[in-house]
Amino acid sequence: MGKRIGLFGGTFDPVHIGHLRGALEVAEQFGFDELRLIPSARPPHRDTPQVSAAQRLEMVQLAVAGVAPLVVDDRELKRERPSWTIETLESLRTELDADDQLFLLVGWDAFCGLPSWHRWSELLDHCHILVLQRPDADSEAPEDLRDLLAARSAVDPQSLQGPSGQIAFVWQTPLAISATQIRQLLGEGRSVRFLVPDAVLAYIHAHDLYRAPN
Ligand code: ATP
Repeated sequence: MGKRIGLFGGTFDPVHIGHLRGALEVAEQFGFDELRLIPSARPPHRDTPQVSAAQRLEMVQLAVAGVAPLVVDDRELKRERPSWTIETLESLRTELDADDQLFLLVGWDAFCGLPSWHRWSELLDHCHILVLQRPDADSEAPEDLRDLLAARSAVDPQSLQGPSGQIAFVWQTPLAISATQIRQLLGEGRSVRFLVPDAVLAYIHAHDLYRAPN
């Protein structure tokens, strides 16, 4: 039987326990052999000043060190430009066995924007999509996605068969933590202890990251 691999992309600027708890819970729920956190490249004008892509990557590496099945996949940062998800999936598929199952994790908001993604109709050729749904979200799927959902969604997320091709919803109560909030706290000289793993906290302090310019 093929491996079960989850994919969780983000800017992770910085990675925090909201990302990590969410990732771990989904990984356990689905019995993933691996859940790959994939830090995304950003256009230079959207970079946080003084925090490089390499530093975002190092923080994710520190956060998941020894926390199986969470691992880091740095392929999007190795490219010259921000990657389309479809390209990341194609690149991953060249390294995997044909029967390995890929599960792309996306939040409900991101999922609703799927029709604007590059070559979006090909995504399900390479992976299943797990939509992380918040219990309080009640919005309806956009028109463009209704046919796709009717054709491809599975009622039981545990029942997804084969390497790719289906959509399922996963209900999750996220921790009310965002990277924006963490950057703000640090910018004001306040503590982010317990919002990020200790190793990430130590890294932020050692490299003087997210400090307001004097
Ligand atoms: P920012 O505040 O800079 O926008 P963020 O904290 O939302 O950042 P991202 O790197 O943009 O983090 O998010 C990566 C992924 O993690 C997204 O799919 C996002 O929905 C999810 N995510 C972010 N915060 C949480 C949280 N507290 N709990 C669960 N998932 C989260």
